[in-house]
Amino acid sequence: MNAVVATKTVKEISIDVAKCTGCRACEMACSAFHARPRYGSINPARSRIRVVTDEINDEYVPVYAGYLTRKECHGRHFYHLNGKQYSECSFCRAACPSRDYFIEPDSHLPLKCDMCEDEPALAEPLCVTVCQPGCLTYEVRRLETPVDQVQESESMERGLESLVKEHGIEAVIDQVKRLAKGR
Ligand code: SF4
Ligand code: SF4
Ligand code: SF4
Repeated sequence: MNAVVATKTVKEISIDVAKCTGCRACEMACSAFHARPRYGSINPARSRIRVVTDEINDEYVPVYAGYLTRKECHGRHFYHLNGKQYSECSFCRAACPSRDYFIEPDSHLPLKCDMCEDEPALAEPLCVTVCQPGCLTYEVRRLETPVDQVQESESMERGLESLVKEHGIEAVIDQVKRLAKGR
């Protein structure tokens, strides 16, 4: 039997949209946390969480910054919430050229939620702590997944082959040595 079990930690923030009041404390806290110096300024445009706000319909949806995308997508969906239509872009997590969400206003670099991980003193992400209505909940899960060693080794072999093809054996060996030193 070649299967072993790998353990992975998954950190999640679950969002109960019904509890969101649109107070935007999460945006302010996130931008202050990531300011230099830390907590030195507040600017929601620098936040890695943005609250999609529709005051007339009393709809507030917090959205976390995800990955950078270089091009906006062509085919898009619409969401219908309580009779109102929202574009897919409204709830999209991407730093995308189609809008200024999740793009740092000064440097124009993409922003991504990092779960406030560079501050070990925090028991939970700051946006969760400041969310008084309890819309945001932090959860840590341990996932155990069976790993097929034969499959793993075959896919590693394929990956190495393509790296060697692209960069040459010397460069790959150098890189592996550098990585090993950093461990
Ligand atoms: S702090 Fe909580 S309630 Fe306020 S806007 Fe953010 S998610 Fe919504
Ligand atoms: S914001 Fe999201 S959904 Fe809209 S174009 Fe960009 S990637 Fe696509
Ligand atoms: S988890 Fe941290 S980085 Fe992510 S949105 Fe919340 S405050 Fe910002």
